[in-house]
Amino acid sequence: MVMATDGTNPLLQPWATPYALPPFAALRAEHFAPALLEAMHQHRAELDAIALQPEAPSFDNTVARLDAAGRLLVRLEAVFHNLCASETSPALQLVQREMAGPMAAHSNAVYMHAGLFARIDALHARRADLGLGAEQQRLLEQTHLDFVRAGARLAPAAQRRYAALMERLAALTTQFGQNVLADESAYRLVLQDEADFAGLPESVRAAAQQAATERGLGGHVITLSRSLLVPFLSFSERRDLREQAWRAWTSRGEHAGANDNRAIVREILQLRAEQAALHGKPSYADYALDNSMAREQVAVQRLLDNVWRRALPALEREREQLLTLMREAGHGRLQPAIEPWDWRYWAEKVRQRTYALDDAEIKPYFPLERMVAAAFDCAERLFGVRFVERADLPVYHPDVKAYEMRASDGRVAGIFLHDNFARPSKRSGAWMSSLRQQTRNGGEVIPVIVNNNNFAKASPGEPTLLSFDDVRTLFHEFGHGLHGLLSSVGYERLSGTNVLRDFVELPSQLFEHWMSEPAVLRRHARHVVTGEAIPDALIERLAAARRFGQGFETVRYTASALTDMAVHALPAGQVPDDVVAFEARVLRERGLPPGVGLNHRFTHFQHLFAGSGYAAGYYVYLWAEVLDADAHDAFVEAGDPFDTAVAARLKRHIYAAGDSVEPGATYAAFRGRAPQLEPMLKKRGLLAPA
Ligand SMILES: [Zn+2]
Repeated sequence: MVMATDGTNPLLQPWATPYALPPFAALRAEHFAPALLEAMHQHRAELDAIALQPEAPSFDNTVARLDAAGRLLVRLEAVFHNLCASETSPALQLVQREMAGPMAAHSNAVYMHAGLFARIDALHARRADLGLGAEQQRLLEQTHLDFVRAGARLAPAAQRRYAALMERLAALTTQFGQNVLADESAYRLVLQDEADFAGLPESVRAAAQQAATERGLGGHVITLSRSLLVPFLSFSERRDLREQAWRAWTSRGEHAGANDNRAIVREILQLRAEQAALHGKPSYADYALDNSMAREQVAVQRLLDNVWRRALPALEREREQLLTLMREAGHGRLQPAIEPWDWRYWAEKVRQRTYALDDAEIKPYFPLERMVAAAFDCAERLFGVRFVERADLPVYHPDVKAYEMRASDGRVAGIFLHDNFARPSKRSGAWMSSLRQQTRNGGEVIPVIVNNNNFAKASPGEPTLLSFDDVRTLFHEFGHGLHGLLSSVGYERLSGTNVLRDFVELPSQLFEHWMSEPAVLRRHARHVVTGEAIPDALIERLAAARRFGQGFETVRYTASALTDMAVHALPAGQVPDDVVAFEARVLRERGLPPGVGLNHRFTHFQHLFAGSGYAAGYYVYLWAEVLDADAHDAFVEAGDPFDTAVAARLKRHIYAAGDSVEPGATYAAFRGRAPQLEPMLKKRGLLAPA
């Protein structure tokens, strides 16, 4: 055991910063391994003390104490994972690879701690007779389930094999994510001649210039950052360049050499199938769904089939619109089929003509700063919390902004870090994470929540302008952020976003609804130059255009959800040698229409393979959308997007409740009934035309 007890490691000193935030400025990559090992050592000692105490097990001396144990480790892991995702370096990546095994081994040691599990198991057996409150009962049940699902009940030989599987999986998923980042960082499409810029609006040119500057290059480059790539595919008139960029985007992780993810995916799938078999489950999908609202594959399949069946004709209606425009533009003879690198380009043209919408017209109404203020304002009107910038708080990159979240009585109830820009050291996508979770176990702890986006940063001195899609992402992640920030539960295990994974996207997707409320747009979407409010006519066109493209989005999303379920439903022994061919076969059998493409292919599908959180779980966005569309209807029925009574129920039962109540029950407490499917179908424009 490496012990860093010489008193020089800032991670192991008391964090003498405001709100005990991590002392980012003092942190170096070499501090992490010794600090993490020391924290694991302390955590083990805490668990041994719980297991070895002579007193008979009680809720307080076992379950509550376990919940409060390992705080140092949880916090160090949080800092470590946040930096690895948002501000990584070769030195941190090395630590990440080196520590993946020991961290997985530690997790195994916790959940296979026989003495500890014996106490939890004994309490669980007589949980109805312990006189526990509802939240305590829930904590006991979830804790017990955590242990069982991590192998606590397996025989010793099976436990050893299980532990080896988990350690190998940790190494593989770490490598998978690093390979995707390597392919993303390596790629650049250099725009040189004026002809290379054909069709690009000024905002895309500026973002391409900024991307080049960040990479220490002159000129303009298109990178694989989504907020640069998608506009490029939407606007560039250079079909050859669109094809190049699209191929680079969709072949990440699929190039022979050091960053090849194909063999890694296959091995991950084999190990997961074996993991499920050790639990007596036919497949990993069965194991994963056991701890979800859906419960069974058939429930997921029913939802995906229903949506797939409705989305295909919606897509073909959109294709007809695209083809009509192409024929009119005289492209019909030259280019008879729409390829995946054409779809967004022609869809943008249809959008501009049918709805007279043009991103170059829209974006000036959505400066990043105003949209952040809009998100904060919605949170204030719904939940009574205010966000106050604190430029003096420690952050890990100069682009990160720190805020206090103040409750209606002025008390600081949370800290929020907003990290909005893409950079080479940050992974792609958008996500919420926490540096500290809310709890009252062992004293009141306020949450420290981080939101990461990957918006293309404007040139120095210029305001960053967002697309409507970017604004949606901003609100989405802030919805997750509020789920962490508004948490009000007794125990860390049940806090904030620690909910079942097909519930976790409800607070985020629900919050998206407010970004398109006319009242919110009129108040906040103001022209970056003139300060004028967005015209009502433009709001109406945005609303009318909202459903256009839903066929495309729904087919692409659902196709990825279907490949996820198909590949994780394979029993051990049936994992294919060639995962790329398997993916293609599933899509062929499902009838993925040509010219569309997927949201994610296996070789860069980080949800599935850069960790296990969303494996056999990409469907959760759609599952949660059933909930969010139905939940939003509660405000529609009340006739006010900020209706006080509905908002109070929403805060109490959804945003503050964490996992302290079973999700179906807490949803019913908010809505007064179970969720219905129709609002989601209606929102996506997938109800058959009458
Ligand atoms: Zn989300």
